[in-house]
Amino acid sequence: MPELPEVEVLRCNLEPLLVGKRISDFQVLKPRVVRPESPQQLEDGVTGCSIKGVGRKGKFLWLDLAKARSRATFPLTIHLGMTGRLFVQDSGDPLPVHTAVVLGLGRKRLVFRDPRSFGRVTLETDSLNQLGLDALSVDFTVDQLGAAFARTIQAVKVRLMDQRHIAGLGNIYACEVLHRARVSPFVAASELRLAKLKLLHQAIHATLGRQIELGLKLKLDFAGEGKSDGLFYFGSASGQAPQSRERFRVYGREGEACPTCGSKIVRAEQSKRGTFFCPQCQQSE
Ligand SMILES: [Zn+2]
Repeated sequence: MPELPEVEVLRCNLEPLLVGKRISDFQVLKPRVVRPESPQQLEDGVTGCSIKGVGRKGKFLWLDLAKARSRATFPLTIHLGMTGRLFVQDSGDPLPVHTAVVLGLGRKRLVFRDPRSFGRVTLETDSLNQLGLDALSVDFTVDQLGAAFARTIQAVKVRLMDQRHIAGLGNIYACEVLHRARVSPFVAASELRLAKLKLLHQAIHATLGRQIELGLKLKLDFAGEGKSDGLFYFGSASGQAPQSRERFRVYGREGEACPTCGSKIVRAEQSKRGTFFCPQCQQSE
């Protein structure tokens, strides 16, 4: 599942391709990804609108739309879910299999492809409003991290992934930032002292920032499956592609040597997710 860095790289790539375009038509091929509105309501709401910007918070992406002769913008939110992908293609190209939604943009079109239909396209803003601070926003300070961790018995890794508290970290980057900060994934979030909170806050910035930097260096065009669409960057439906594995310190590296101390990396089940960590570097205090 794409996490904050992947969605930010996607946003940076899409923005120059989409800003200034007008939505000439809107088609829903998989009604399940449109909710709570009906496909017709969504079509009526966006057709004829211009795209003024592409925004992101946490793992959510949105298009800032404006109606003709209006300056007021409103978001069309797109959540990629597990397997959702966005492509900008020529309108004459054949549609990819599993296309869920198509926004016609004159000679181009924006295609939302979603094999498993866990993604979502909506004009409703509740999901955005329920998100905690974006993990890379300037408002997300060490104090805010402390506030997100206060008064809970939840393990730090589980809390880090709760989008209502901090938006953007999923299973992969939660493992990565905890290793970088040398924090055990199993320790209760509220037990972390200030020194550890500072290290973790730094690790979040450093890890996500570095991943975005790496992603922006790749020549991605998001034109479709099998081209330079970032499949090797996003990984496939079954997980991260082999080429992207080298980006990670611990995630997906069970049994390999920890890059810090050389001990074997361990995989454990935690809240039904695979947690990768170094038992030597990441001890509970
Ligand atoms: Zn280690």
